[in-house]
Amino acid sequence: MNDFFSERKKRLHDFKVKFLKKTAVKKQTDIPDGLFLKCEECQKPIYEKELEAQLHVCPNCGFHFRINAKKRIAMLADDDTFVEVNEHLESTNPLGMPFYEEKLNSAKKFTNQNDAFISGSCTIGDYPCFLGVLDSFFMMGSMGSVVGEKVTRLIELAIKEHKPLVIVSASGGARMQEGILSLMQMAKTAGALKKLEQEKLLYISVMTYPTTGGVAASFATLGDINIAEKSALIGFAGSRVIKQTIKEELPAHFQSAEFQKEHGLIDLVVERKQLKSQISALLKLHQGGHKA
Ligand SMILES: [Zn+2]
Repeated sequence: MNDFFSERKKRLHDFKVKFLKKTAVKKQTDIPDGLFLKCEECQKPIYEKELEAQLHVCPNCGFHFRINAKKRIAMLADDDTFVEVNEHLESTNPLGMPFYEEKLNSAKKFTNQNDAFISGSCTIGDYPCFLGVLDSFFMMGSMGSVVGEKVTRLIELAIKEHKPLVIVSASGGARMQEGILSLMQMAKTAGALKKLEQEKLLYISVMTYPTTGGVAASFATLGDINIAEKSALIGFAGSRVIKQTIKEELPAHFQSAEFQKEHGLIDLVVERKQLKSQISALLKLHQGGHKA
């Protein structure tokens, strides 16, 4: 009987590994050079090169496509100023969750990075700061021990060097494969931000599509200035779960950037092409990283 189960487990494992490999390859070839893509929002075709030139914003309806962390850093940091830190940190499988290693390996191959958060120092509009970006293409930008540790180390660096901090979030929330260890990162990052606040250092949080779950409920919404990129979806639980729980119809545009601004969670909604100039203007207003 035991043999039967172990054989079945092995077959399921092999299938999942094969499936992950297949999807990774498919995703990489989803957008071949020189082709048309369909906008997720208005469904109109867009020439891929045109989309790239428009910073991945639909020229027809203004929908902001998801972009990876490296592209985001290239858009925000001044040319050749970004110096990455802690890039060597890699997730382990502390709870022994089945298939977690395979998922990590697949995400590493797909993104060519060790986890879902890239962090470092740079200048934005000539103002020095520390910049961290979550990558939703790496396991939906989920926060496990490594993401939490890298966010915390970046905050500690900002404190040590007395510089402002900018974090751009895009996340499905806590990484379920690391269970309680993922949830602990919420308290850890929030605790580090409290120290940053005590030093009177500026923290600008930028929330992009999607910023949800444990990331939305911790460092993403703890900015001195909370910015949402246009088209961002910001919330804790998914709208379907909320609807089922409270058994009521939800308002139109629930969890949109504009909705969250109307309800006081967000200070500014900014279009992607304005984001860099908006952040550098805020850094200028708080020169030296000081809030007061
Ligand atoms: Zn569109």
